[in-house]
Amino acid sequence: MKYVSELNLDAGLTAIYRQLENELAQLNPGCNGCGTCCNFGDFDHVLYASGVEIDFIVKHAHVPDFAVSDNICPFLKDNNCSIREFRALGCRVFYCNPHYQEVSHEVYEKYYRMIKELYNKHAIPWKYQPFLNQLKEAPRKRLP
Ligand code: SF4
Ligand code: SF4
Repeated sequence: MKYVSELNLDAGLTAIYRQLENELAQLNPGCNGCGTCCNFGDFDHVLYASGVEIDFIVKHAHVPDFAVSDNICPFLKDNNCSIREFRALGCRVFYCNPHYQEVSHEVYEKYYRMIKELYNKHAIPWKYQPFLNQLKEAPRKRLP
């Protein structure tokens, strides 16, 4: 398999996410899918993402109208993520299991280093900001 830095942006990001999912399957931190952590206000949580992750979402999914001040992810529908395939690294790595917190930090750092490699490979200026703010400012893709 090619190094992720040799792949185009979408393929590189998809490869990183796939590798992460395999690693998480081994760690098995557990989740009952309640969706509470996607309500950032209730959970007292700020989700960050890189710019390429936001571009990836906007390119592949419809972004509903939303207000940043509501502090809830607009992709949360009936307590489920409606864009699971395209969700950001921070979404994938987060689990509320307290026994997993230390490992989660290491996993997050490891996979963000890989995303930074992608940036370097494609000579894109690094961008890492709150998810909702970036999503609000990202140009909307008009779906047919
Ligand atoms: S993108 Fe999906 S997993 Fe991430 S915060 Fe939104 S609803 Fe939750
Ligand atoms: S990580 Fe925790 S809060 Fe988030 S959906 Fe899973 S069980 Fe619910």
